[in-house]
Amino acid sequence: MDLKRAGLYIHFPFCRAKCPYCHFTSVPIEGRLIERWQTGLANEAAQSASEDYRVDTLYIGGGTPSLLGPDEMFRTRETLRANFRLDLAEFTLEANPDVRDEAFLQGWKDAGVSRLSVGVQSFDDRVLKILGRGYTVRQAEEFLDLARKAGFGTISLDLMIGVPTEKRSSLRTTLGRVREIGPDHVSLYILENVEGLPFESVVRDHPMDEDAAADAYELMRDGLEEAGLRRYEISNFAREGGECLHNLKYWHYESFLGLGPSACSHMGAMRWCNKPGLEAWASALAGGGGGDCREEVRPLPPEESVREALIFGLRLVRGISLGGFTERFGVDVMERFGREVGDLVEEGLILVEGDVLRIPDDKFLLSNQVFRRFV
Ligand code: SF4
Repeated sequence: MDLKRAGLYIHFPFCRAKCPYCHFTSVPIEGRLIERWQTGLANEAAQSASEDYRVDTLYIGGGTPSLLGPDEMFRTRETLRANFRLDLAEFTLEANPDVRDEAFLQGWKDAGVSRLSVGVQSFDDRVLKILGRGYTVRQAEEFLDLARKAGFGTISLDLMIGVPTEKRSSLRTTLGRVREIGPDHVSLYILENVEGLPFESVVRDHPMDEDAAADAYELMRDGLEEAGLRRYEISNFAREGGECLHNLKYWHYESFLGLGPSACSHMGAMRWCNKPGLEAWASALAGGGGGDCREEVRPLPPEESVREALIFGLRLVRGISLGGFTERFGVDVMERFGREVGDLVEEGLILVEGDVLRIPDDKFLLSNQVFRRFV
């Protein structure tokens, strides 16, 4: 039987300390909380166990899952292996470059991690300090060295731009280091200022500048492309064949299951997210008695799926195939959204090239204006 494929996302909700700009679900780590998480994960995995699909991408994100030591990573992997049909083409672990212990990297490798997504953010110590990251450029470089020596075939770097007081010289320094290190993949994010976070006080003293962030994006995009990292999605760049298979599932609108507090899932026509707090999530699952750790469980109406699939597909540089879309969703995009597409073509925000609908290369920073028309 040809089983359907699905991605599996695991949310690890702890960090060493909370970064002042962070709005993700994570809390400072404490030993007994990891045990609570491991038990909750085992309960949720047992509850979600299925032989109906083949898990071909696994992504452990957070939080800072690189806090998982060799034994904890082994246990996590065994929990998943016991409950899912794992046939992994890719196993990503998000890592902070503050790990010094080689045994950790070896433990991840032994558990099957094939890809590290390293949250470096910048190769300028001044920027790291403003962001409140707890490591230096030198430490990040040492970590990346250890990762290569440990034999991780695929390394991705997260980089942040739009940081208050950022200078073009610091972006150039970062680009220079990226060229030397030669990662397979880069995710480039513009810093978001979310109200109510400690970072607000930094922004009060040094207001963020949207135009400067747009210039920074262009400088980095050009530099990354010159370094052989081709943009394939709004924020993601890769060498040939180095695209993130797990994240491609989101943009291709394919099924994925999320386990852990706040993790979201999209399986077939259903969508849900888990309770965000560790305690609420873990106690709903306590005892393995089948309690429901989910909230916002709902079927996706076909109309909503069509709009979402269109928006996700347009995030990709190559856009969507109009014929493929009709085949999959039974909808002719040019008929259903003729007026919206026509307006966007006139505004230069979208291109129709034969079978392909895509955002022009120089308009990706305006992609939210495109997406709004299809909501
Ligand atoms: S390490 Fe990442 S997830 Fe953790 S607080 Fe910092 S930004 Fe948030």
